[in-house]
This record gives sequence, C-alpha cells and structure tokens, in this order.
Amino acid sequence: VVRAEGVHKSYGHVEVLKGIDLTVAPGEVMCLVGPSGSGKSTFLRCINHLETINAGRLYVGDQLIGYAERGGRIHEMRDKEIARQRRGIGMVFQRFNLFPHMTALQNVMEAPVQVKKRPKGEVREQARQLLDRVGLADKADSYPSQLSGGQQQRVAIARALAMQPELMLFDEPTSALDPELVGEVLDVMRGLAEAGMTMIVVTHEMGFAREVGDSFVFMDGGVVVESGDPRAVLAAPRHERTQAFLSKVL
Ligand code: ATP
Ligand code: MG
Repeated sequence: VVRAEGVHKSYGHVEVLKGIDLTVAPGEVMCLVGPSGSGKSTFLRCINHLETINAGRLYVGDQLIGYAERGGRIHEMRDKEIARQRRGIGMVFQRFNLFPHMTALQNVMEAPVQVKKRPKGEVREQARQLLDRVGLADKADSYPSQLSGGQQQRVAIARALAMQPELMLFDEPTSALDPELVGEVLDVMRGLAEAGMTMIVVTHEMGFAREVGDSFVFMDGGVVVESGDPRAVLAAPRHERTQAFLSKVL
C-alpha cells in the first residue's frame, strides 16, 4: 500500500529525512520507532501530504504522493488532487484535536458530510457503528471536554475511520495519555489490525509492536537503521544504535 523510495525532506538547510526506503504491504502493521528528532513524524506527514518531499518518490496504493527532484524542477500536484489523495489516509495524532464544540457523534460525522457530501442519515448510522466499534456507543452525545483522554483518542480513531481510509497513520497515539488509559486505545488499534487495516504506527509501546506489529522499523537521524520482524528485532537488534535505544525503552 505504501512505497517510499529515497525520500528526502529538508527544512531549510537541515536535512530531516535522508533517503527513506520502505514498503508497507496491504494489511501490514508497521511499527516505526526511533529517538526524538529522528524524523518519524516528518515521514508520516509526508505520506499524508502535510509536507512535500524534496526528493524521492512516495506511493500510496498506485498513486504517487509527492514528487520533486534534487536540483531539478519541482513538480507539484494541484490542490484538488492532493485533497483527494489525503482523503484515503486516516491520521491520528498524539493530541486528540477533536472539534471541541461538537459532540463525539458530530466529530465522527463531520468529514463524510462536509467533504464527501454524503447524506446525513446514512452517515449518522455509520458514525454510531464506528463509536460502537471503539467502545463508545454510550458517549455519542458527549463533548470532548466531557471525555477522558483515552475516550477522546478513541473518538479520533473513529473519526479517521469514517472516511473509510485504505491506510491509517498513528503518531504516538498513546504518549499523551495517563498510563491507565493507554490499554483501551491500544486495544482499539489491535482490533483494527485484526480487521486487516494497513497501519503505520509510531510508538514507544514495545509490547504492542511485539504482539501486533508485522514489521518493525528503527529510524535514527533521518535514515532507516534497521528493520525486520518485530519479535526478531526486539529480541536481538543487530545495529548498535538500535541496541542502545531499545536498552533505554525496554
Ligand atoms: P519525536 O519522537 O520527538 O516526535 P520525531 O522523530 O517525530 O521526534 P520529527 O518531528 O520528524 O521527529 O522531527 C525531525 C527533525 O525535524 C527535528 O530535528 C525537528 O526539529 C525538525 N523539524 C520538524 N518539523 C520542522 C519544521 N516545521 N521546521 C523546521 N524543522 C522541523
Ligand atoms: Mg514525532
């Protein structure tokens, strides 16, 4: 579903991604791990077209997401095409950023109604099912301020799913949560994985990576240092930078 070939991204003179190559197969759960500043969020943002890349190629499905050439001409897509591509990709951030003035149900309904122009009744029915799926059927009419962090994050997942994405990106979805709320969010993500969703998950939850992940990618300094089966990498990291990092988080 995702293919990155030599993806480079710089901010000014600072090169944050220095040639990322990786692929994510349909239904695969890839866990992306690495120290702060290694470029994990930047990479997700490039996939979701929140950033444009400076070189390399990035495909989601059969679509080329961003294209630019070093020292050459930058080819940019029209906004309309970018918007269409982004609709197929769900993203969940560290901070839940729900619309504060809307109920859980309204949050989940917003994009399908406003962006896809689908009929409200049908969308409401689907939104209720999604809230049920994340265990919040009884919170449909609650506002974000009335929900715990874990509940808000589950609404954020339901909201992303409402656009029926082919790919879900998670950027440290549990790192802003109190420890006792982490499990309920990971359980929802595990359910999604079991249902066959293709996911890239930036996380420091190594238990999740080991149990749910199909692949494990360790990034440092804007490059992929090591990748492989999560159980194999976690049990016996080959690269010394991976070893040093994992010895701190495990
Ligand atoms: P963390 O684990 O802390 O979230 P990360 O791996 O997600 O880290 P990124 O957020 O991708 O790292 O940042 C990679 C580097 O890019 C950092 O050095 C950061 O300072 C820099 N960076 C990120 N966004 C910008 C920006 N908009 N302008 C300039 N530099 C940026
Ligand atoms: Mg980050």
